[in-house]
Amino acid sequence: MILHFIFVVKEEDRDKRKFEFEYIQKMSQFYKVWIKEKFGLDYEIQCDELVTQPRSILQRLDTHTLVRDHEQRGKEIYHFYLTHFKPLWTDCTCEGYHAENFGLAFWQQPKEENDTLFLAEKNCTTVSHEILHELLRILRHKKYVQEVHDIWTKHFYEQLEFEQYGEDFKKTDGKPMFLTINTSQLNL
Ligand SMILES: [Zn+2]
Repeated sequence: MILHFIFVVKEEDRDKRKFEFEYIQKMSQFYKVWIKEKFGLDYEIQCDELVTQPRSILQRLDTHTLVRDHEQRGKEIYHFYLTHFKPLWTDCTCEGYHAENFGLAFWQQPKEENDTLFLAEKNCTTVSHEILHELLRILRHKKYVQEVHDIWTKHFYEQLEFEQYGEDFKKTDGKPMFLTINTSQLNL
């Protein structure tokens, strides 16, 4: 099983978003460990960039473009796109989208470089939301959409804490490097 993270970045932004890509590379390895520990699934991780050229308004990059990209690269690989646009349509309660072996999350750019906490709070959490849908689907969980959304609601309206992990991928009460959806209430 392969999980391939792809940072979709505009050519003109590539240099100034290097720090984010470095974070994404670490986050990819983090999710390998997180998935293995939580769900016992062993993914080989890949991570790279998809550099996009300026496009006309008629050829705007959207979810369908990336679904096609996923199909061309190989449907047996779980491709996860971190994008500079929000999905136009989604059944998710976050700015992401999921389908079989396909994930997408709107990746927000921090105002200040090196703002790891921003990346953890705004982006890493969304990624965990979409990954959880896919893992529950693989594990044949009947409510793989609803259950994730129920937890997500608790994060935003009932002060349920995100899970905090440090640079060593272990749980921490200190400043987190990675934040994920809280899986403690999952009915597996
Ligand atoms: Zn969702």
